[in-house]
Amino acid sequence: MKIIHASAQLNDKELLAEVKRLAEHERVATADLIATLAEFDARRLYLGEGCSSLFSYCTHALHLSEHAAYGRIEAARAARRHPVILDMLATGLVNLTTVCLLAPHLTEENHVEVLHAAHYKSKREAEHLVASLRPQPAVPSVVRKLPARVSSPARGAATSAARTPDNPPVGRPAPAAEPPARLPVVAPLAPERYKVQFTVTRETYDKLRRAQDLLRHTIPTGDPAAIFDRALTLLLKEAERTKLAASARPRVSAPPKEGSRHLPAAVKREVWARDAGQCAFVGTHGRCTEHGFLEFHHVVPFAAGGPATTENIQLRCRGHNGYEAELFFGPLLAREEAAVFGCSTRSRPG
Ligand SMILES: [Zn+2]
Repeated sequence: MKIIHASAQLNDKELLAEVKRLAEHERVATADLIATLAEFDARRLYLGEGCSSLFSYCTHALHLSEHAAYGRIEAARAARRHPVILDMLATGLVNLTTVCLLAPHLTEENHVEVLHAAHYKSKREAEHLVASLRPQPAVPSVVRKLPARVSSPARGAATSAARTPDNPPVGRPAPAAEPPARLPVVAPLAPERYKVQFTVTRETYDKLRRAQDLLRHTIPTGDPAAIFDRALTLLLKEAERTKLAASARPRVSAPPKEGSRHLPAAVKREVWARDAGQCAFVGTHGRCTEHGFLEFHHVVPFAAGGPATTENIQLRCRGHNGYEAELFFGPLLAREEAAVFGCSTRSRPG
């Protein structure tokens, strides 16, 4: 099979249509594969092919990545119990990640309602759905010293080579592996309750201890969760003050001087509140959902005489701010404009 890349010959409109067509094609093909794997699994045909499990067959014979194999097998087994999943995957109402997260919690009674609630949900939203189905008890606040990490490449290589899903370590037990790097965890436990876990340095730990001591009269237990909340409240206030020039008693700003690129603090505050701290670019598919890396964007560009007023300023993510500069100035001029003026007014102070 030869893949021919004709996409460079397509105009923008054709390319957009082609990407949509191919994504749909891929969804249908994946749902077909999952339906067929479900039957293949039920007949245990992988055994005759020399594989001990469907996972082994998918990775060794079909050359799927472990992640891809896992997702398709989970979905195949869930689809045997609830065939409606196949249509939802084919039409894109739910994706594989969502199905894998929900599968252990689907029952004959709840699956229609739960899968309906999962339409077009992101992974994070699906995790919230799972938390509402199976609320977990709150975890206790824990501050624990981790064992020191010892660098030992030989040992790490030995243990990682020995462990594959179908080839568990045999013979002598591997020596105790060094503690794995812990990734931060922010996971919903139940509606309105989250587990947050991360590793901090000695310096941060000392700060926590000092905060516990200083706040003992209001937080007698020294609960790190309560201190974390207080610290974040202060941090947000500070970040908003510097980023948005917010203030408890906003002063009336003088109107911007003609020709000045300076954005008055009042304009920043009003724009941020009006656009709800979210990129306000609206494309054919709807409004951009980005909340990070936001910049203050001149609707009528500054270079074209656009004033620094609430009406002419909107929030944009970095991508859309650059995109609109290119639409207005063309790619080359947009870069020059960015170089000369700093293409946008970043939400940094100053
Ligand atoms: Zn955007």
